[in-house]
Amino acid sequence: GTDFGINEALKTLGVKTINEGTSTGLTTFSNGDIIESYSPVDGQLIGKVKSTTKADYEKVMDAATTAFKSWRTMPAPQRGEIVRQFGDKLREKKEALGKLVSYEMGKSYQEGLGEVQEMIDICDFAVGLSRQLHGLTMHSERPGHRMYEQYHPLGVVGIISAFNFPVAVWAWNTALAWVCGDVCVWKPSEKVPLCGIACQNIAAEVFVENNLPEGISNLINGDYRVGEFMTKDSRIPLISATGSIRMGKIVAQEVAARLGKSLLELGGNNAIIATPDADIKMTVIGAVFGAVGTAGQRCTSTRRLIIHESIYDKVKSAIVDAYKQLRIGNPLDENNHVGPLIDKEAVEMYQNALEQVVKEGGHIIIEGGVLSGEGYESGCYVKPAIVEAKPDFKMVQHETFAPVLYFLKYSGAIENAIEIQNGVVQGLSSAIMTNNLREAERFLSVQGSDCGIANVNIGTSGAEIGGAFGGEKETGGGRESGSDAWKIYMRRQTNTINYTTELPLAQGIKFDL
Ligand code: NAD
Repeated sequence: GTDFGINEALKTLGVKTINEGTSTGLTTFSNGDIIESYSPVDGQLIGKVKSTTKADYEKVMDAATTAFKSWRTMPAPQRGEIVRQFGDKLREKKEALGKLVSYEMGKSYQEGLGEVQEMIDICDFAVGLSRQLHGLTMHSERPGHRMYEQYHPLGVVGIISAFNFPVAVWAWNTALAWVCGDVCVWKPSEKVPLCGIACQNIAAEVFVENNLPEGISNLINGDYRVGEFMTKDSRIPLISATGSIRMGKIVAQEVAARLGKSLLELGGNNAIIATPDADIKMTVIGAVFGAVGTAGQRCTSTRRLIIHESIYDKVKSAIVDAYKQLRIGNPLDENNHVGPLIDKEAVEMYQNALEQVVKEGGHIIIEGGVLSGEGYESGCYVKPAIVEAKPDFKMVQHETFAPVLYFLKYSGAIENAIEIQNGVVQGLSSAIMTNNLREAERFLSVQGSDCGIANVNIGTSGAEIGGAFGGEKETGGGRESGSDAWKIYMRRQTNTINYTTELPLAQGIKFDL
């Protein structure tokens, strides 16, 4: 059959059959075990990556700490120029990288392209930011004194990323960290190592063309044990980790034990509230895309639909109709809506969740199941399912990283829906569908959604890079991407300068000698 241009894409991206998984930008090496990357699309082996040993890691840290010393002295707008060139390279390689993301991770080609577009957007954002890394000036209480604050580069930033956004999460972190004067060490998910190789190759071209030293962008590969090299390493002042709550709880403690900073982007359990004043058509589109897009493997995927009893049957039948039209299959084929899950382990978790929720009293209204036969050889394709459930079911409280949508019914006022929406440990994305101003404002108010993202008449899934992205509670509290998220990549210094011949003390304290 057709390979959908995969081999061409791999060539364009410099991805080989066997790849050195450790890179300092100019040099690649690796002495660890081989990671094999199989595509969930067709079950084929795409390529191999040699993982990073402790000794390899030490070489990376030598390069990174050395590079930081010179990179931090380059004026920020010049670092912005490097990021601008990187964004241009991404534009050139957008189709190839989007295709690899789709093939290695399993999301649709459209979404693969979208992910690369996010990388390009954050580069543009970072270029502008490189001239705006400013602090405040304050009025000193002492005469003849000036007080201000400045932001300095932080150091080596460690990035640990999840499988479901194999390239964008790295760019969100690294583009900002670079203009802030930091150097980065990235450990991609061991489920999508080739995407990491491709990104590092693109960055390396920019470093070579600009005669920059090695160590500004570094890649390491392997599972959690390689991640631990970084979390335990006090040479790394900031760890930015994206993934499960389980992982975040471990990483947070490792990093806190050495009083490092962590930026955590963990799991979500996102809900859309549909009130009596909801636009039903918009609700259906928002909920269906949110639940089945990326086969339910977005941190912002819609897991719960909280529907007012007065419109429950209407919404239910419209969504059931929409689900019947979903085409499941090869995500590189643009006619399909739903691609595969990442691997068979994910398929098992999906099956298990459906079994458990039925045991708890859940009522299945759209049956799930694993697909087999032609086109489904990888064993990773599942049917999106819908279950009528109760808010406090264990499975409803838990993030199942698959296309399972729970319908929850509420009655009475909007407060009741907000209570259900907030009644989970996660706090990433939330949405309300309503044309009622009072309900919408209530949802956004201090008594409203407790999530990092709260939308009105937009689903939960996806976000623009201009805003700060992240969530509260067990989602980890981190913010990355837009707004002032850059501040975590820098250290803040308060400076007070005395230009008199006296030495007055603060708070009027007298100290006469
Ligand atoms: P995961 O937690 O299994 O792995 C994520 C990364 O952490 C991988 O690179 C892994 O090797 C590494 N890791 C795991 N244990 C570690 C440890 N003890 N020390 C250091 N590194 C460790 O997650 P996943 O299955 O790849 O991704 C899915 C999860 O990620 C979902 O829960 C999803 O909601 C979440 N996610 C969150 C966001 C967000 O921005 N909030 C974005 C994408 C994904």
